[in-house]
Amino acid sequence: MSSFVTGQIIEARCSRCKDITGHVVMACLDGVPVKVECRACGSVHKYVAPEVHTRPKVEKTVRVKAGHDRAEAVDASVKAEKRAAAPRPTREQQQNARRAEENEQRWTSLVDGRSAVPAAYSMNGSFAVNSLIDHPVFGTGAVIELFPPDKMDVMFRDGVKRLRCVC
Ligand SMILES: [Zn+2]
Repeated sequence: MSSFVTGQIIEARCSRCKDITGHVVMACLDGVPVKVECRACGSVHKYVAPEVHTRPKVEKTVRVKAGHDRAEAVDASVKAEKRAAAPRPTREQQQNARRAEENEQRWTSLVDGRSAVPAAYSMNGSFAVNSLIDHPVFGTGAVIELFPPDKMDVMFRDGVKRLRCVC
């Protein structure tokens, strides 16, 4: 590491210029500048090494809309990135989860523990409210409502399905 001497002109970050500017070293401690004077604005301040604040900037590719400046575009893109990085369950997802749980409970109360043997489902079948049916895709369900002449709602484990039937 290089050593500095008082009076030397070095590059440092100026808090007033908010930039890297030439500074005159006013005071040194163990070869490290502690106090510098900005040659651009004349302010005297603590030495801040240029590399401390000048991380290699990765210029992001952002689309800048007309009427907006790049800073805004970068800001918007950073915000979008944050949103993508931390997906929180949406209200809809929460509602879906709750609904699924309610479905499960309702299905259990309607179907579980029934001694009746579920009737195989058929579009041409005729089913009574509260009877159990066995569907090839949805599994066992309980008929909860009939919609004459040809529809019924059946409570399956993953929700109510409207099926064809002969009412
Ligand atoms: Zn300055």
